[in-house]
Amino acid sequence: MPELPEVETFKQYLDSTALRQKITDVEVRDAYVLKRVSARGLARRLKGLRFENSRRHGKHLFVRTGNELWLRLHFGMTGSLEYLDQDQVAPKTARVIFHFVGNSELAFDDQRKFGEIELIEDVDEFLRARGLGPDALTIGLLQFKAIFGKHRGAVKAILLNQQLIAGIGNLYADEILFRARMQPATEATRMSSEDLRRLFHATRYVLEKAIALKTDFNRLPKSWLLTHRGKAGRCPRCGRALKSATIGGRTSWFCAYCQKPI
Ligand SMILES: [Zn+2]
Repeated sequence: MPELPEVETFKQYLDSTALRQKITDVEVRDAYVLKRVSARGLARRLKGLRFENSRRHGKHLFVRTGNELWLRLHFGMTGSLEYLDQDQVAPKTARVIFHFVGNSELAFDDQRKFGEIELIEDVDEFLRARGLGPDALTIGLLQFKAIFGKHRGAVKAILLNQQLIAGIGNLYADEILFRARMQPATEATRMSSEDLRRLFHATRYVLEKAIALKTDFNRLPKSWLLTHRGKAGRCPRCGRALKSATIGGRTSWFCAYCQKPI
């Protein structure tokens, strides 16, 4: 499931491939991913415009196409972007294809169709209406500490709550907690100022490192939990069997020896 690092990687990909080209048509192969806009409406409003720049907040990508017109992309469970030159064929599971002058295309590929495409006029208004918290990559230490100081519950549930901090999903939350050496069920209100500092720096490090590696799982450090999590998985630090627990409705993997309860 695309989390902040994947969406940031899609942003960089879109910025380096699809900006500033005139949109000649929008082909909707499956309108299920369209939200509050019809296939005809989407094409009518975008034809003749260009993707000018983009902005990411949490797991949402916003692409500016005019003064008060943004394309909002959310990648759901399996969404991704693919830029195609004129002789390349779009994937079978492409749901929406943006055609540009010169016959290049940008495909919104989404096998399971939990993704979303919408047109909005104001990004900040959208973020307010959704009640999204600050972005996990740009939040400062003081604000981070304040959020954990004000909310009860498992530290992992707080990391996953998009209304408190936007962008972190199940996989990276486990990785952040592994790096910070904290168990996912740790009660947030029991964490000291130093614990929170450690968690903050682990968050920043994991997200930035994953982006720098373009979220390529084969290139992620072997010392990370991500490539080891799952049944029969062993802790890359101490070699003991990993444990799992359900927290906030999601399966967490952790090492009960390296990650101490607080
Ligand atoms: Zn361990």
